[in-house]
Amino acid sequence: MATIRDIFAERKLRYTPQRELIYEALRTSCSHPTADELHRLVSSDADRVSQATVYNTLAALQAAGLACCVISLGGVARWDGNCDTHTHVHVRGDERVLDLPHELDAALQAAVPKALLGQIESALGVSIESIHLVAQTKQVDGHGVEITA
Ligand SMILES: [Zn+2]
Repeated sequence: MATIRDIFAERKLRYTPQRELIYEALRTSCSHPTADELHRLVSSDADRVSQATVYNTLAALQAAGLACCVISLGGVARWDGNCDTHTHVHVRGDERVLDLPHELDAALQAAVPKALLGQIESALGVSIESIHLVAQTKQVDGHGVEITA
């Protein structure tokens, strides 16, 4: 199993203990934290990390393809350590962004009619490589998911 040092080396990202701490906190978080939330997560450790280091590290991780920015319904920048194609569920009213469980995401992707994709490609004159779906809830409690894109 690749270590974080290996992952950084593969992406030509300079290793520092602070970067490792931030990346590990991001990739093990399921909450798509904001930069400030991530700062609070890593600041509870003995090694204090500055807010500027968190912001700079997120930019470096994003440039290396190890972090992705997700904008919530309210326009808040949240961060994801999983840059693979996956569906987000945006919870209306409390800014949470949830990952659709993998098996449900795969079933949703497979359910998109190929004929419809062909019609979209013809209408727009493009070739679609992947589909990124976003779902948003009607209520904060998560009932009544509405597909919007
Ligand atoms: Zn995600």
